[in-house]
Amino acid sequence: MKVVVLTGAGISAESGVPTFRGSGGLWKSFRPEELATPEAFKSNPKLVWEWYLWRRSIIANAEPNAGHVGLVELEKRFGENFLLITQNVDGLHQKAGSKRVVELHGNIWRVRCLACKAVYYDYRLESDELPLKCDFCGGIIRPDVVWFGEALPEEALDTAYTWASSCQIFVSIGTSGTVYPAAELPHIAKIKGAKVIEINPEKTPISSIADDIIREPATKGVEKLLSIL
Ligand code: NAD
Ligand code: ZN
Repeated sequence: MKVVVLTGAGISAESGVPTFRGSGGLWKSFRPEELATPEAFKSNPKLVWEWYLWRRSIIANAEPNAGHVGLVELEKRFGENFLLITQNVDGLHQKAGSKRVVELHGNIWRVRCLACKAVYYDYRLESDELPLKCDFCGGIIRPDVVWFGEALPEEALDTAYTWASSCQIFVSIGTSGTVYPAAELPHIAKIKGAKVIEINPEKTPISSIADDIIREPATKGVEKLLSIL
């Protein structure tokens, strides 16, 4: 039996990483849709980097929660027949110990040079000079994440489609089901005959096709999931 789990920002909420809808503080006056775009970066790369460094500093202090840890257990249980697909860029699944993780939206700890195209990990939380510059050529670098309006990494998306269309169980955890193409995955799984399970304290568009709904936060929800799978 093949099991696929898709996670969204909700699974990291209990680790103190805000979802886009819940993010606040200093940044309340900007909507993520205004900052996480190629246009925003072009017009104000310093502002966009400030926002990313702020998000990095929150993530740097965050620990995986029982939801992330429960998914490591699920991976051990199902081995080769398990795949975790995440929309999160925070790396908390890997920090918890998950090995087979497909990152659909990139990783906040990775950067990409606009000039020489180098891609590498960069863990800075602050800098006197923004935007950050490339270690190799001094060009402007950007976070290696997928912004609104950008294409998803092809290989990750292909793997996600293949698994969604061939699994028997598809579990959606903490995603609003509105950010495409990730939001398509549970629908593909359903059409191909998989059982769809949703873990989310709130109703989403996925709820209407779900066979089982666990209306709980991820920590409690994953514990229940482990008891039924
Ligand atoms: P999302 O679309 O994945 O929606 C968040 C969902 O989580 C909502 O449906 C909400 O009801 C649910 N939720 C809230 N608390 C929860 C909990 N404790 N347990 C389970 N579910 C919970 O995420 P978004 O915030 O709308 O952002 C969209 C995209 O932005 C993501 O796909 C991602 O690429 C990016 N993002 C990533 C992170 C991260 O890496 N942690 C954080 C914010 C945004
Ligand atoms: Zn460079």
